[in-house]
Order: sequence, then C-alpha cells, then structure tokens
Amino acid sequence: MGERRMVEPNVEFIEKIKEAGGDFLKNCFQCATCSTVCNLSPAANPFPRKEMIWAQWGLEDRLLGDPDVWLCHQCSDCTTYCPRGARPGDVLAAVRKYAFEKFAFPGFLGKIVGTPSLFPVLLLIPVVLLLAVLAGTGRLYFPQGEVIYSKMFSVATLQYSFITGTTLALLMFVVSISRFRQAMNKNSLQLTHPENKQGFIPALTGTILEIVTHKKFSECGDNTVRQYAHLLTFYGFIGLAATAGLGAFYEIVLHTPSPYPLIHPVKILGNLSMIAIIIGLTILVVRRIQGYEKSGNSTYQDKLFLYNLYAVAVTGIFLEIFRLGGIGWLSYSTYFAHLVFIIILLIFAPYSKFAHMVYRFIAILWSRMNGRGEPGALQYEQIVSVEAVGEQVAEGEAVPAAVAKG
Ligand code: SF4
Ligand code: SF4
Repeated sequence: MGERRMVEPNVEFIEKIKEAGGDFLKNCFQCATCSTVCNLSPAANPFPRKEMIWAQWGLEDRLLGDPDVWLCHQCSDCTTYCPRGARPGDVLAAVRKYAFEKFAFPGFLGKIVGTPSLFPVLLLIPVVLLLAVLAGTGRLYFPQGEVIYSKMFSVATLQYSFITGTTLALLMFVVSISRFRQAMNKNSLQLTHPENKQGFIPALTGTILEIVTHKKFSECGDNTVRQYAHLLTFYGFIGLAATAGLGAFYEIVLHTPSPYPLIHPVKILGNLSMIAIIIGLTILVVRRIQGYEKSGNSTYQDKLFLYNLYAVAVTGIFLEIFRLGGIGWLSYSTYFAHLVFIIILLIFAPYSKFAHMVYRFIAILWSRMNGRGEPGALQYEQIVSVEAVGEQVAEGEAVPAAVAKG
C-alpha cells in the first residue's frame, strides 16, 4: 500500500481547461480506450487517460510538468474512439494553451495573445510600432514613382528593428522554456524509466530527426494527411526565414538592392516558400472546416497562428503582384499589412502557437534523455488490482479498461 495523498483540486484551473476547449472533460469515466488507441503513447504510463483524471481533479502542477501533453500530435484518434465523448485530444490541446500562458514571460503579453477579446490590442501594437518608425524616419507618406519597398522602410531600419525585436523575443522565450523544464523536472519521478535513458547527443539527433521528418504525424492512424500539410507549412516557414537572410546577404554584403527579377534566387525561394505555406495551410483549414471530429477542436491560439501565417503568405504574394502592376498606394498598404503580420508572428512567438514547436522539441528531448520510452502496446504486467487503481491513477500508471471498469 503506497503513501496516502490528499488531492487538492484547483477549481479555477479546471474551469480554464473547460473554457479553452476541454468542455467535455467531466464525461471521462477512465476506461483507458484513449491510451490504447493512441499510437504515440509510450507503453509505460501511457497518455492521455492519466491526463484526463489529472485534469478532472484539477492537478495543475502535474499537467504543467507533464511532457506527454506535448508528445501528443492532436490527431484526434482518441477523441474518435472515446465512448463517452470526453474529447481527450481537445483536453490536451487546452492544457497546452494554458501552459503557453502560464510559462509566458512577461505574463501580460501571454494574456494578450491568448485572449480573443484582446485581439485589437495585439493588432495595434505592431501598427503603432511601424507608424512610429515611419514618423521617426520622416516617411509617413506613400512614396512616389516606381514601387520600391525600401523607399518606405529602408533595409537598415528593417534589419535593426527585426534584430532587436527577435533578440528580445528570444530572451523571453528562454525564460518561458526554462520554466517549462523546471516543471518537467519536478514531475520526473512519475514518468522516467532509467533503463531507457539516452545521452544528450543521441537524444538530440533523434529529436531533430523526428521534428524535421514529422514522423510522428504518420503514426497517427486516422490523420496521416496532416503530416504533408504540416511538412509544407514547416518548410515553407523555414524557407521564408531563409529568404529574409538571403535578402539581407544580397543587400548588405553583395550591395545588390531589391527589387529583384522573378528569376532571382531570393524571389524563387520566397515565392516557393509562400506557395508551400498557402497549400499546407489550406489543407489544414479545409480539414478543420470539414471535420471537427478528425481535426480536433481548434483553440484560439491555433486559429490565430494559422490565419496569421496565412496572412503573411497571401500579403507576400499580393505585394509582388501590386508592385509589378505599379499600383503605389495599394502596394505600400499591402507591404505595411505584411510587416504587421510578420511582427505578430515573430515578436509574439514565445506566447503563440509558434512556441508549440519549441515546447514539443524540448519535451521530446527531455523524454529521450529521461527514458520516457517509445510508443507501444500496454503490457500485461501493467495490469493492476482494482484496489490499487486510485493510487496508480495518481501516479500516472497504466490501468487497462477492464480493470478500471471493474
Ligand atoms: S476513452 Fe475512456 S479514459 Fe479516455 S477520455 Fe474517454 S472515457 Fe476517459
Ligand atoms: S490526439 Fe492523437 S496523439 Fe494526442 S493523445 Fe489523442 S490519439 Fe494520442
């Protein structure tokens, strides 16, 4: 018999999870079907059944420090098969949303990104910043003559602004991620298996390979098409970042000013990246519209990231079309909007869905280094007695359906 524990539910936390999309949380009766059908769940201490009871009991600390919340790829297989309609995939998504805000530094920015009613404030921040730069450089007007975007914001102004902004965002990110790591370390007693531990280099290599191939998406049986959509979006995004770097190299090092012809390497890379993003995101959006069951419930942050990235790609295509058409005011307005969306994407990275990738990366790395184990079927020896169910649930152990119902 293990040590007795007093569960102190955090009712406010339960309400927040319900508000963030885990509305049907209380329907769960711990049958463990979800853990059985999840192809990504490790054999020992599988998810998401244990997360469901932790969420029902309001065990905030357990969930915030649980790497499994991030190992989930929201394929919704568990939601499809849950006999009680408790939507475990959505509950994990709601916990992730809560974690973004909880770990965010400074917290008020996390709140702005995570609260739909504060969207106007989110939009206003980059608009005011850009207008201030235009006013400060004496360019608060539509430039005349041939459309050249550096007439509006000089290359140097953009470079310095973005370097400063992204450095600040990176520093904030480091604080958020270290809070997350501390929370996981506190939780390690329940989840680690020393015999499976990997060293830093093999763990890092495995994590990078897992992320760049999006291998886990293909293992989520009911939702394989998401792998291609996510890959297109992921590499489109990396392509856009590379385009910005290549553009700076041509401008600053090679002294070759923009605009470039359509067959220039910067243009080719930029256009291919935007097309990849538009195709990838269109698949994701259409799937969300067509099948709530298959795609899972979208949190506000999911939608914000998705539509903002869409806006970056679409305005990027249009600002080129308008420039070629020589329509000055339309080109510069679109360029302004394009920069607003890029700032939202980058500056708010530590608090948005963008952070998802980084949190997942850290969780996978941590899991490998701490012997969290590979996915697999529940083992016979994990079957426990009915009397032990309460304790085992609290410890995050596996409880097969028959026993839990027994
Ligand atoms: S499948 Fe069973 S354990 Fe999982 S959420 Fe549904 S009711 Fe709960
Ligand atoms: S949504 Fe998919 S990956 Fe996440 S717990 Fe459910 S079955 Fe597993």
